[in-house]
Amino acid sequence: MATSYDAIIIGARCAGSPTGMLLARKGYRVLVVDRATFPSDTVSTHIVQPLAAAALARWGVLDRLIATGCPPIHTYSFDFGPFTITGAPGTKEASVAYCPRRIVLDKLLVDAAAEAGAEVREGFMVEELLFEEGRVVGIRGHSRGGGIVTERARVVVGADGWHSVVSAAVQPERYNEKPPLLAAYYSYWSGLPIDGRFEIYVRPHRGFGAAPTHDGLTLIIGGWPQSEFAANKHDVEGNFLKMLDLVPVFAERVRGARREARFAGASLPNYFHKPYGPGWVLVGDAGYIKDSITAQGINDAFRDAERCAIALDNWFAGARPFDEAMRDYQRERDEHVMPMYEFTCQMAAMEPPPPEMQQLFGAIHGNQVAMDSFVQMNAGTISPAQFFAPENISRIMAAAPIA
Ligand SMILES: Cc1cc2nc3c(=O)[nH]c(=O)nc-3n(C[C@H](O)[C@H](O)[C@H](O)COP(=O)(O)OP(=O)(O)OC[C@H]3O[C@@H](n4cnc5c(N)ncnc54)[C@H](O)[C@@H]3O)c2cc1C
Repeated sequence: MATSYDAIIIGARCAGSPTGMLLARKGYRVLVVDRATFPSDTVSTHIVQPLAAAALARWGVLDRLIATGCPPIHTYSFDFGPFTITGAPGTKEASVAYCPRRIVLDKLLVDAAAEAGAEVREGFMVEELLFEEGRVVGIRGHSRGGGIVTERARVVVGADGWHSVVSAAVQPERYNEKPPLLAAYYSYWSGLPIDGRFEIYVRPHRGFGAAPTHDGLTLIIGGWPQSEFAANKHDVEGNFLKMLDLVPVFAERVRGARREARFAGASLPNYFHKPYGPGWVLVGDAGYIKDSITAQGINDAFRDAERCAIALDNWFAGARPFDEAMRDYQRERDEHVMPMYEFTCQMAAMEPPPPEMQQLFGAIHGNQVAMDSFVQMNAGTISPAQFFAPENISRIMAAAPIA
């Protein structure tokens, strides 16, 4: 039977639609399917870090996002109690972050994929992968109320999140696994102006952040260690408000505001999957999942989409064998994200910082270059490996006033 598509992509959000869009723009025959119909919300907050915003700009989607009235975020502040580190998260070229509702962002991405020429099938549930001689050759699924259909492709891309049907079927190697570390919850408030700022409050065993999103609303996300999940899950609101009370000035602002949505939440696992094998690849959360505390998932999904589209293009065009192109895709991903993965897991443990870290925070505070660089590291603009490099730390400590 003839292969119908070059690529079938399961999942049409931050990883899937951009992968489909980029492949379709190169002229490949692409089918993107998602069981959701868009606009569609999902359980996720949505800080789009400056480098992710830069990807949207490269793809021609950022102007559309800005046109939806999504406010830019030019400043992040990390309040540790005794002092606050405030800085700019981006670079000269990619200076601001955004916090767009997923119901808006994901629809823009789906539309961009369709405009690029990808066939997008919404409301289509993939039930299983089609295997031939140990190789994935397609999918079986159905639209709502429809009968089972089979579609075939040279490659099936799992962009289907951390409950991926592709990984369940191919059982990829899993590595660097750590247990869920943090129970995170969020909701939206009106009457809580926070113009252009992402405010983060760090306290022992608690942390929360607030950022402006669409429609004049402010997102607040916060949480506690996973070890407290069971004890706190029956009164999320009470425990959330108790957490805000750790910062009385902020709690007062929230008391004067109005919650406009129910709480949503998740405890995420932490691991990497080998992202390729015979006839399949993984992008986004399906390939690499980590705690949400550093808000890197969308940035990572966008980068995967670009790198994976390049690797697949190399293979489709006959420039490189599949395994070689995909080995590089995996290596580049792992080298790039590993320092942030370790940093994210450390943050998500919510342990009070050890004395040498407190000393470092003290030295950063008040030094604007160091504060910008600390904020950029947290935003994923520069790597934690670069920020925590001994020569950088020595430079920051040497510039600190003697206590
Ligand atoms: C509480 C929380 C807060 C977060 N906050 C942030 C943040 O502030 N910033 C940030 O960058 N990241 C954040 N993240 C992470 C971010 O949500 C993810 O990294 C990102 O959504 C991954 O995108 P994805 O496209 O890989 O997967 P997903 O967004 O999970 O999309 C997968 C898609 O696949 C579809 N699908 C799955 N199975 C099938 C099937 N069998 N058939 C058809 N379709 C299927 C689903 O319907 C879904 O639409 C947060 C996550 C959580 C849980």
